[in-house]
Amino acid sequence: MSDRRDGTIVTTGLAATVPTTPAPVAETATAATAGPRLLAGGPIAAEIRAGLTADFAAFKERWGYVPTLAIVLVGADAPSAVYLGQILRTCEKVGVQGRLVEIGSDVTADALCNEIESLNADPAVAGIIVQMPLPAHVPLRTVIDSIDPAKDIDGIHPRNAGLLSLGYDGFLPATAQASVEILKRSGIEIAGKRVVVVGRSNVVGKPAALLLLREHGTISILHSKTRDLGHYTRDAEILIVAAGKPGLVTGEMLSPGVVVVDVGINVVPDGHGAERLVGDVDFESAQGVVSAITPVPGGVGPLTNALLLTHLLRAATDQAERGAATTGDAAR
Ligand code: NAP
Repeated sequence: MSDRRDGTIVTTGLAATVPTTPAPVAETATAATAGPRLLAGGPIAAEIRAGLTADFAAFKERWGYVPTLAIVLVGADAPSAVYLGQILRTCEKVGVQGRLVEIGSDVTADALCNEIESLNADPAVAGIIVQMPLPAHVPLRTVIDSIDPAKDIDGIHPRNAGLLSLGYDGFLPATAQASVEILKRSGIEIAGKRVVVVGRSNVVGKPAALLLLREHGTISILHSKTRDLGHYTRDAEILIVAAGKPGLVTGEMLSPGVVVVDVGINVVPDGHGAERLVGDVDFESAQGVVSAITPVPGGVGPLTNALLLTHLLRAATDQAERGAATTGDAAR
């Protein structure tokens, strides 16, 4: 087990080999064929990051320290390594300390929970993310329960999940939030639309469905036991796909004009001995059918990271204010 405090990923070289910005091919094809509108997360994320950079500088000025985001990675998982590499770069951009805590896949549940408890107790750590998936022998529920809900900035603790389902204010799972924010910030109306979500995980599909319901969409949730996926996806006016299956949704499963948010991040061979990132939607066949689609990479991913750091700011501020109130330092 090693606790990397320098914010670098050592488990894989994938983060360096896969592209992290939208593929120019897709941009070119769109321009040449007047294809669908690309819902890029990058510009929205940049706007959020600009605000965050100022806000974190003000935080440091006010409280005298830089808050830390701790990311716990158990074992090596290629998509996780890509995702975490992006988060750590975003931390650097906005002036937050990113701390990658790498733990071997043979860790016991007790040892992992102890590690999380020590992060809970560390006043410099404002937020904790435990990257999924965990090895099969580690009980997920035990690990999730061990995260302090006040530092659970990706909204996986039952307290935050419960607040979301009741419509109250808590930490939202950032990817789910990003899949909805990218629609709202692109001016796409959700209220009254037939919205289909593929995937029902606690971190993406289910919370995305709840957030879309909050926006007054009419929601269907599909999963691995759904018979005839295309029957439902063809009915969608807005389709969110978060299954982790490259090419699961093809153009013939879509209705003309549908808006597609492709949350999937899959590392696949590029046919030339290297690797590339693709989503769950087959972009080539979908682009002639959809009216708008998020690119992979460059869609939901960058926005996820920026939103996550807005949660970190809120967590850090709450914790600093609580600490000041406890020590009678509130008027500082
Ligand atoms: P997950 O926990 O593996 O859940 C996948 C969901 O998809 C499950 O509900 C599963 O159904 C469903 N599914 C799998 N195969 C299916 C099929 N053939 N037809 C219909 N549904 C199917 O994955 P996750 O954590 O939700 O992540 C989903 C994807 O989002 C992954 O590619 C992940 O890498 C990506 N992701 C992206 C970001 C980002 O920032 N863009 C962040 C996190 C994750 P069952 O419940 O029946 O098994």
